[in-house]
Amino acid sequence: MSEHERVSPAGNATKVVLDVTAGRRSEVMLASMLDSISDGVIVLDFDYRILYLNQQAAVVLGAEVNLVPGRGFWDVFPDADDLFRSSYARTMNERVPVTFEAFYPAPLNRWFEARAQPSSDGILIYFQDVTERRGQQDEREALRQELAHQASHDPLTELMNRALFEKVVSERLVSRQPDQRPITVLFLDLDQFKLVNDSLGHAVGDALLRKIATRITTVVGSDAVTARWGGDEFVVLLGDLSAEEVQSLCDRLLEELRVPAQLGEYTVTTTVSIGVASADLDDGTLTLLRNADVALYRAKDAGRNRSAWFDADAHHALLERILLEAELRTALDAGTIDVHYQPLFSLTDGRMCGAEALARWHCPGRGSISPEIFIPLAEDAGLINRLGRHVARTAIAQARQWNHIPGFRVWVNVSGRQFSTSIVADDFLSDLTDSGVGPERLGVEVTESVLADETVAVQALGTLVSAGVAVAIDDFGTGYSSIARLGSLPVTVLKIDRSFIAGLDTPQGRATLNLIVHLAHTLGMNTTAEGIETSEQLELVRKAGVTTAQGYLLARPTPAHQLLHPTST
Ligand code: C2E
Ligand code: CA
Ligand code: CA
Repeated sequence: MSEHERVSPAGNATKVVLDVTAGRRSEVMLASMLDSISDGVIVLDFDYRILYLNQQAAVVLGAEVNLVPGRGFWDVFPDADDLFRSSYARTMNERVPVTFEAFYPAPLNRWFEARAQPSSDGILIYFQDVTERRGQQDEREALRQELAHQASHDPLTELMNRALFEKVVSERLVSRQPDQRPITVLFLDLDQFKLVNDSLGHAVGDALLRKIATRITTVVGSDAVTARWGGDEFVVLLGDLSAEEVQSLCDRLLEELRVPAQLGEYTVTTTVSIGVASADLDDGTLTLLRNADVALYRAKDAGRNRSAWFDADAHHALLERILLEAELRTALDAGTIDVHYQPLFSLTDGRMCGAEALARWHCPGRGSISPEIFIPLAEDAGLINRLGRHVARTAIAQARQWNHIPGFRVWVNVSGRQFSTSIVADDFLSDLTDSGVGPERLGVEVTESVLADETVAVQALGTLVSAGVAVAIDDFGTGYSSIARLGSLPVTVLKIDRSFIAGLDTPQGRATLNLIVHLAHTLGMNTTAEGIETSEQLELVRKAGVTTAQGYLLARPTPAHQLLHPTST
């Protein structure tokens, strides 16, 4: 009884072994005790013959094996693999316990967790059937791997997906050595994929993507990592290559990818555009990939079917432009674009006979920005109509303030872009009507290019001239006006470009000026000389018969309230 208590709880092998070694009397007890534990137990003698086995052992191994005392263990289990044999041999020979898990094939087809202990008779094996647990483990492992693969790979092309690619790039960036060449990434985009998809169907589109994926991985080689970024975009992390090698790889990609692909009954020809970016020392993954994407857009912009490298300067200039554009929008919304006025003087009587409205932008944090910068910006950003309208209304409202000055005209610059519709003329006329200002108080300045072939512009200017508004050709002489056509255009003034004024110190310069003035008078037009900076120039234009003059010598552009009282500053 007391011994029985000592071996409880059941299954404590160390105590079992102690009892086994205690003497012959314990054999019976051992047998009954072994039957009460949940493990299968087999005791082998030094010749690997079965000495004892418990009931559980028979239950676990079942009818498939003929497990009876006296039989040789390896006869009962002929297909036991090396793990069984070497483990039991260790316990038998070296007298140390060994625990292992192993699979026994047919007829059992089961996994066992077994532990062998040395005993005085030989060894004592106790074991459990763990097939179910192993099965679940295997299934779980397979599922885990499958999920990991699905989460990191694109099912269509079997390439890595974006998430895994980003991880791989990050790891490469972190582990790069200072003496290594910069890490390079390619961003590829099919040029005609949408067309293929829309016209031949998604199945052909999918087949094309698979084909392209294979071609890319073949060309870039095993040193590179290729991934599908999404849609028809692919990314490649290149191995350690020089810039020349990268370029020739791109050239080969372009060449290989434009080879027509046979997809079922269709022969599909596509091209790709490639953006290339190399990592600067402090570039992170996102910057590197974004740079490659920016380069891709440059490649597309330049006409597709080509590669382009990321250009940091161009990119910064672009960013700067985008920022400035946003600020210009804000300024227009807030109405903070100002208008300054630069007077024009009559060369016959010296009177101030008008003023040119010039847009001014004081951008908070940046200071004054030149119209040479923000006017082209407004044109490209589609803001020129708003800006032009704002200047026109401000100038017309100002002209009303100057209504008491006889023969005084306010001139407004109008960009060529504003003439894309003829509405611009109606806008001017209705602004005049709204402010109660007569058309003889307004002039518009346009450049020669506006008149070149745009009939819309010519019509709009015709409308203005008929209404009594003056029209000047600005910067005259710098464009390519056809002299023959000039007479038939709705133009009242030639505003001689300041480069001719600056050239008046040579005889040819003076001759040219005389020619222009003569031409204007022949056509019934007046002339204005802009950019007068010296009294010599003023004297020369007066002598040449120019009608009006403008320039820093006479007056600089000023806010409206200072125009008539220049001393008030
Ligand atoms: P622009 O129409 O030829 O205007 C004359 C420019 O010459 C003005 O520059 C003026 O300040 C400058 N200027 C005047 N006198 C002299 C002088 O004696 N010497 C020199 N070196 N320059 C003189 P600003 O204001 O910087 O304007 C530059 C250009 O921006 C204008 O050239 C015009 O093309 C454009 N611009 C300005 N405001 C507007 C606007 O409201 N709408 C449009 N579409 N363009 C505008
Ligand atoms: Ca002008
Ligand atoms: Ca000008």
